[in-house]
Amino acid sequence: MSQFGCDKCWSSEASNAWKAVTSIPIEEYLIDESHYIVSIRSCPSCSQRYLQVTTETVDWKDGEDPIFRTIIPIDDEEQASLTANKPPKTSVLEAIGPGRRSLKYGWPKGEEPSTYWGTGVYVGLHD
Ligand SMILES: [Zn+2]
Repeated sequence: MSQFGCDKCWSSEASNAWKAVTSIPIEEYLIDESHYIVSIRSCPSCSQRYLQVTTETVDWKDGEDPIFRTIIPIDDEEQASLTANKPPKTSVLEAIGPGRRSLKYGWPKGEEPSTYWGTGVYVGLHD
């Protein structure tokens, strides 16, 4: 399976991995805007780092903002280059781990939120 993380921060099952990885501390914010947040989480047990990208679009009509998140494990080199070049460009984020398994969370308007596996990073629309 994955060579990333430990059972405290990652899992082969998407919803378990989501619960685990979102419970580990955020180490650093690379971008912290109201509808666009990019942060790095770090596992206290195994020191694995994860890049998290959250995008929201504002739904002025109903006040229910669609939210999309991606969490992807990153290596030390990627972490160093991301934190040295803040704030990262969209193209830089989307160049992280193409083909690497990432965890996605989507809460489209009018639907139930879901977690599922994807690959790489896709920075969605955001306000
Ligand atoms: Zn871990």
